[in-house]
Amino acid sequence: MGKIMENLNRRCSRCGRDAVIELRYEGKFLCERCFTRLFEKRVRRTIRINGLLKRNDKTAVALSGGKDSATTLYILKKLSDRIKSEVIAITIEQGNNEYWKKCLEAARNICNELGVEIHEYSFKEEFGITLDEIVKMSKSIPNPAPPCTYCGVLRRRLLNDKARILGVTKIATGHNLDDEIQASLMNFIRGELNRIARMGPVVGILRDKKFIPRIKPLRECPENEVERYAEIRGLKFLGERCPYSKDAFRQTIREIINKIEENHPGSKFQILRSTDQLIQILRSGINSKEIRRCEKCNEPSSGEICKFCQIREEFGF
Ligand SMILES: [Zn+2]
Ligand SMILES: [Zn+2]
Repeated sequence: MGKIMENLNRRCSRCGRDAVIELRYEGKFLCERCFTRLFEKRVRRTIRINGLLKRNDKTAVALSGGKDSATTLYILKKLSDRIKSEVIAITIEQGNNEYWKKCLEAARNICNELGVEIHEYSFKEEFGITLDEIVKMSKSIPNPAPPCTYCGVLRRRLLNDKARILGVTKIATGHNLDDEIQASLMNFIRGELNRIARMGPVVGILRDKKFIPRIKPLRECPENEVERYAEIRGLKFLGERCPYSKDAFRQTIREIINKIEENHPGSKFQILRSTDQLIQILRSGINSKEIRRCEKCNEPSSGEICKFCQIREEFGF
C-alpha cells in the first residue's frame, strides 16, 4: 500500500515536489500537498456517494484519541463549515488505568486544538463497572468473549444513549479501509454473513428512531495513509494500541491481507468493492420487517434480549 518515504529522494508524480508517500496501487509518489488533497477528496467522495451527511446534521465523532478518530474529527470539522453541519466529540473512558487516562488526555488536546466541544463519559459512572473489571471477571466464566466484544457492546450503547440526549443525528467512527476489510474477511471465514450484511458506510439494515445512524467516513482510506495524514496535519494522537486488542485471528487476517496487497497492489480496494457488492446482495434478501425491541430495556435488538442486557446480567451491574 502507500509506502512511507523517509529518506528517498523521489519526486511527486503530480507536481515534482519532494514525495512523502508512495501509492503503489496507483503507481505514484506524492508530496504532502498532493497527498492531503487526494486523501480529503476521497473522504468527501465517500460522504457524498453514500449520503453520509446532510445539511443541519449534528454529528458526534466517537473520539478515542487514536489516529483514526482524530483524523475523522479533523476532516469533519473542516467540512462542517462548508456544509453547515455541527460537529462535536464524544469520548468514553472504558477503565481507569494509565492507558485510558492517556486516551482521554489525547482526546482533550485534539478537541482543544480543533475548537471542538468534547463530551466525556465513563463506564464506571454510567454502568458502575470498568472494562478492566469485566475482563478480570470474564476469566472465571466458561467461554468468555474477547474483551473487544464486551467493550464494543457497552461503548455502542453508551454512545447511542448520549448521542440521543445531545440531539446528535449521526455518530461518526474512525473505521478505516483495513479495519473494514479485515472484519469482512473474518466474518466470511466464520460464516457470519449476517454480520457482513450489517456492514457498510452506514451501519445496520433496519432503521429505528431510537438508533442513531453510525457512519464511517474513512472506510476507503488505507490505514497507513490515515496515519501519514494525521502526522502531516500535526494531530497529537495517541499511537499506543489498547492493551486488550490482542485478537489473534484478526492479526492473522491483517498479515494475509497485507501480503496480498504487497504482491498485488490495489487488492485492498478490490476486497472492499467485493464486500459492498456482497452487502447489497445479502440485504436484498432481507425484508424490512419490523424491528424487535429488547424485553428488558426496550431498545432496538436483534433478539428477545439485547446483547447489552445479556452482558449486564452476566456481570451483574
Ligand atoms: Zn505534489
Ligand atoms: Zn436490553
